[in-house]
Amino acid sequence: MIHITNFPRLGKNEKKKIILPPWGSRALWKEAGDSINYLINQHKNRLTMAFNMAEQLKGHLKSIFFLLDELCYMTCPWCPDSCCLKATVWMDFKDLLFLDLAGEKFPPAQLIKSPSDTCRYLGQKGCILPRIKRPWICTLYLCPTQNRILRRESSEVQKKLSQAVQTIKSGRKKIENEFIRITTMS
Ligand code: SF4
Ligand code: SF4
Repeated sequence: MIHITNFPRLGKNEKKKIILPPWGSRALWKEAGDSINYLINQHKNRLTMAFNMAEQLKGHLKSIFFLLDELCYMTCPWCPDSCCLKATVWMDFKDLLFLDLAGEKFPPAQLIKSPSDTCRYLGQKGCILPRIKRPWICTLYLCPTQNRILRRESSEVQKKLSQAVQTIKSGRKKIENEFIRITTMS
């Protein structure tokens, strides 16, 4: 199964040692978003390929949301140990870049300020962010219970999901490479 089985979760001692999540304060979050926005606007005419790749990535992401929602409906409402309560995850550069190029607004702040925080987007009924705006790591993660259910699906469904995940992973990398290539050209 291609999905990760461990949502990053740290012990107390590890949390003390880990570097802080990027752009944890509102000011840094705004600065990061503004900088990406600025560069995209500056190089808009040469970023056509990156825009197209982001649009395609959006399509691949949307193609797996129905299955992920189904898995969540079957498991999360009865979960005794919600992964989002203890996960140490955040949005990375590729997440922000994808959102901007795909014409999606950024969420109002980074998920957590420090490793001991609980994600600010965890509501009473689960994640309050639309799936498209969640960090890729949140989409990628299937817990053991969900993986067990997924294994009961047809091999065709499993293969489709696996292929979509690989395509999204490589698409994210390609978008980042293209963005760096264009914005660092002299
Ligand atoms: S994904 Fe799994 S561990 Fe996380 S809340 Fe849902 S059932 Fe619980
Ligand atoms: S963004 Fe949503 S899915 Fe990800 S850790 Fe926060 S509440 Fe959970």
